Amino acid sequence: MQGWGMKVTFIAIIALLLAITGCKKKETAQVPDEVESVVVEEIAEVVADTIFVWLDSIHRGEGPFNVMERLRINRNLRQRILYELANEADLTTLRVGERFAAVYDLDTARLWGFIYFQDVITTHRIQLSYDEDGAFADAIHVLDEKPHTMRHRLIRGALNHTTLDAELRSMEIPPRVGQAASNILECKIAFRTDARIGDEFELLLAETTFQDTVDGVAVERTLDGRTELLFVAYSGVRAGSVRAYKFFDGDKSSYNAHYTEDGEALIFSGLRYPLDRIHITSSFGMRRHPVTGRSAMHNGVDYRARAGTPVYAVAEGRVTKSAFDNASGNYIAIRHNDGYSSYYLHLSRRSVNVGANVRARQVIGLSGNTGLSSGPHLHFGFRRPNGTWMNPLSKRMIATPRLTGEKLDNLKLQIEDIRRIYSELDGA
Ligand SMILES: [Zn+2]
Repeated sequence: MQGWGMKVTFIAIIALLLAITGCKKKETAQVPDEVESVVVEEIAEVVADTIFVWLDSIHRGEGPFNVMERLRINRNLRQRILYELANEADLTTLRVGERFAAVYDLDTARLWGFIYFQDVITTHRIQLSYDEDGAFADAIHVLDEKPHTMRHRLIRGALNHTTLDAELRSMEIPPRVGQAASNILECKIAFRTDARIGDEFELLLAETTFQDTVDGVAVERTLDGRTELLFVAYSGVRAGSVRAYKFFDGDKSSYNAHYTEDGEALIFSGLRYPLDRIHITSSFGMRRHPVTGRSAMHNGVDYRARAGTPVYAVAEGRVTKSAFDNASGNYIAIRHNDGYSSYYLHLSRRSVNVGANVRARQVIGLSGNTGLSSGPHLHFGFRRPNGTWMNPLSKRMIATPRLTGEKLDNLKLQIEDIRRIYSELDGA
């Protein structure tokens, strides 16, 4: 590899480009990693040796647009490049540190292309062309993917550590996959109270592998970022037994998730808090009522809140009540996608009407002291679809679509496939 030569190009050219763009701000050139060097060498062969490659990466809170801005790509080209790139690569889940490069042709001082280094085997390149007058003409996408294969792996274990997370980490399962497995199971299992040493779990993974060479020796490597969790199961004395299967409904479908056999989605989505500051003054259960003095069931949780504190919807949903009565004062109820409803009582002000769709964390009103209330606070309740009250603090899951009809049939077919893979590995 001509690593030396490349480095010279990378560093020396920065000054030239700064001269071209008239920018005085000092930029730090990133050192290209191995993949980038290979890709850049390939490009250099196409465009001759007069290119400048400017590497950059996603910083906290940024999208690709910000990176392109730093790479001095003009606004029109930015939009065009993003349009082409977004058709081919998923840019919605970019993480801090993901790498990009702008390639400038130094003979013409024009942007030759824009590169997204998705992972060690995948590079997306948007290549630009210009007409005779030098005006931008076209942008095309070129995918560069190293050969790779898929293999399945069945992992079995029992809980020795205190948590499933810790257990999976000790088995060198990619943290992203371990986290996903825990989140799926957590929809059904209260690990904090019900996990026991000796509980058993299984994970069926689909892994992407590729050939690499380390010091001239061929080795097979796994691309952790592409590992998929096809199946996860857990069984314990107290926790009971849970099995979840991956369902693929199509690119970018919101139904892509893990489901139980009967089509119940296991999408972990913790509820958001109804207030910015959380201090419980009275919990769910039997208590002596602070106003009437009688012993009664407290159907929710009381949070300390000065009158006028913003109250948020804990999850997305539709407003089913926005009213006043003598006991609850001003109150709001929101029905969520899983059929459960959240209740917010004693408000000083309601700012949403019945029928409104609200997002998680949207302000729905201000806390207060209306109705049967001994002082300013927020009473927060949660009601099951059958109308009974539950402890809001034990509500673990919300916004779970259930598959029906054709989608449920598709899930069943996919479960059969997964079981076939499972039994092949199980027998091996
Ligand atoms: Zn209360």
